[in-house]
Amino acid sequence: MRQDEDLAQPEAGGRAVGSFETERVARREAEAAAERLARLQSVTAALSGARTPDEVAAVALGVGIDALGGTRGFVLAARPGGTLEVLRCVGVTEDAARTAAAPEPGGPAWEAFRSGAAIFATGDEPFRDGPEAARAPGRMAALPLAIEGRALGVLAVFFERARPFGDSDRAFALGIAGQCAQALDRARLLVAERVARAEAVTARRRLAFLDGLSAHLAETADRAEMLDGVARLSVLALGEWVGIYVQNDGGGFALAAQRGPPALGAAVDGHLKRGAIARIERKGGCGDITVVDDLAAVPAVVLVPLTVRGRSLGALAVATEDPWRTPRAEDIALLADVAHRTALALEHMRLLDEANAAARAREEFLHVASHELRAPIATLGLTVDLLRRDTRNRDPAATERRLRVLERQAARLLGLSKTLLDVSRITAGRLDLAREPADLAALVREVAARFADEAADRGASIAVDAPGPLRCELDVARMDQVVSNLVSNAVKYGRGAPIRVTARAEGARAVIEVEDRGIGIAPEHQERIFGRFERAVSGRNYPGLGLGLWIVRRLVESHGGAIRVRSAPGAGSTFVVELPVSPA
Ligand code: ADP
Repeated sequence: MRQDEDLAQPEAGGRAVGSFETERVARREAEAAAERLARLQSVTAALSGARTPDEVAAVALGVGIDALGGTRGFVLAARPGGTLEVLRCVGVTEDAARTAAAPEPGGPAWEAFRSGAAIFATGDEPFRDGPEAARAPGRMAALPLAIEGRALGVLAVFFERARPFGDSDRAFALGIAGQCAQALDRARLLVAERVARAEAVTARRRLAFLDGLSAHLAETADRAEMLDGVARLSVLALGEWVGIYVQNDGGGFALAAQRGPPALGAAVDGHLKRGAIARIERKGGCGDITVVDDLAAVPAVVLVPLTVRGRSLGALAVATEDPWRTPRAEDIALLADVAHRTALALEHMRLLDEANAAARAREEFLHVASHELRAPIATLGLTVDLLRRDTRNRDPAATERRLRVLERQAARLLGLSKTLLDVSRITAGRLDLAREPADLAALVREVAARFADEAADRGASIAVDAPGPLRCELDVARMDQVVSNLVSNAVKYGRGAPIRVTARAEGARAVIEVEDRGIGIAPEHQERIFGRFERAVSGRNYPGLGLGLWIVRRLVESHGGAIRVRSAPGAGSTFVVELPVSPA
């Protein structure tokens, strides 16, 4: 580019000029116009290769400075929300360009962007670096980059020396700006299209992944298989390593399934067990989605709770190894979706297990109950036959014996029917207690005395240590049932060894102990036997429904008390009941 004066339009004014001079001016103008045209064409060519806004800014700045004869400049681009960002600077600090882009106090660059009109400052103020340069220098052109009234940015060029801007000069500058604006618009569209295409691909992949996951969850009935499938599908879509922690009965978290590099898995698992998972275990379940980013091996591990209706079932852990895959909001939303579906599947399996167990228990109960009912009914039938024969033979002693058998079997049937009724009441939540002040010690003595004969039949004695009175609020019939059940079990499982029943006050509690030296209970059964239908002996040796202790625990608990057992196999058992005593 020749110097500024070549672009300037010499004003003829009122000066008389010769034909030679007129011709010379016309020739120079024609030359300048041709050169501008050539420059505009080269600008078009240069810009056509720029594909991103950044590349456009670089080309625009280069050709803009060169074509206008400037020395420095910058390009600003509009951002959503109507602000400007600095795309590129040459010979101007970024700070200065940023100041020029700010609406406050609003320098020429901002003004050109806001108004859409070019500003040509033709004053003599020299260029100064720093914020001043951008704000109010005398020698600059601020050209809006706009398409059909849409402001896309600003091209600013600074000049070393003061220069005038004639009409064709201005038109040339605006022509360059127009070309740059078109290129910028094209580049933006290209970028937007590329982003949209990438997003569409991602969305399609996510949808396909979720479809696959749903199908897998719907098809799989086995828990381990289900969790392994979730890990296998997720590791392709979500991260480098996926682990599924499931809460076990003790409340701890166990890694139930994992996919991804084993070494990475071991590092992440070890780290989580020392930190995030350990914290969740201590709290008894997990609350929020947590991003753990203090692990050296990977940029981030996202831990998503597996919860159903506020209940914690475990956690989904995903480790991302590439920095660009550090989870964004939409990744976390997808993880939450996967975790939700997995938690629901786990819950469905749990409910199914529960329903199956309930169905099995019901069948078992019907089986045991019908067996239990058959025995006394058969005995009743047989005894009635024998009784008839005894009556014919006029044998009163035998008749008396048969009648006692009839009585015992009738009592057994009555007991069974009462037990079944209790079960249905407790299950339906209709266990109404009629509590009144009563002497628990007296009740214990009375029950023990009632079982003396039955114990004696088996060679056992019952020692009672229950000095009263022991005042409690009791449903007397129900508490009688509790103590009777425990003493009856002591007789039944006591192998004829001595039995001891005690009742005493301990502070605010009354404590009953029923101790036998019978078969005892193995430690692994000691909690279980309080469950419904739970037994620790075979029905052949010891008939029973496995309901007594279940009912006893419910009755004790509804009196505000507790029951536990101390036992060792072969050494005997002591059942301990604690109840609140009445305030004095
Ligand atoms: P059932 O006696 O009808 O089986 P329970 O609910 O009363 O039902 O008892 C549940 C189980 O607990 C019994 O089957 C037995 O295995 C065990 N059990 C209860 N009491 C004793 C005891 N005193 N000694 C040893 N085992 C006992």
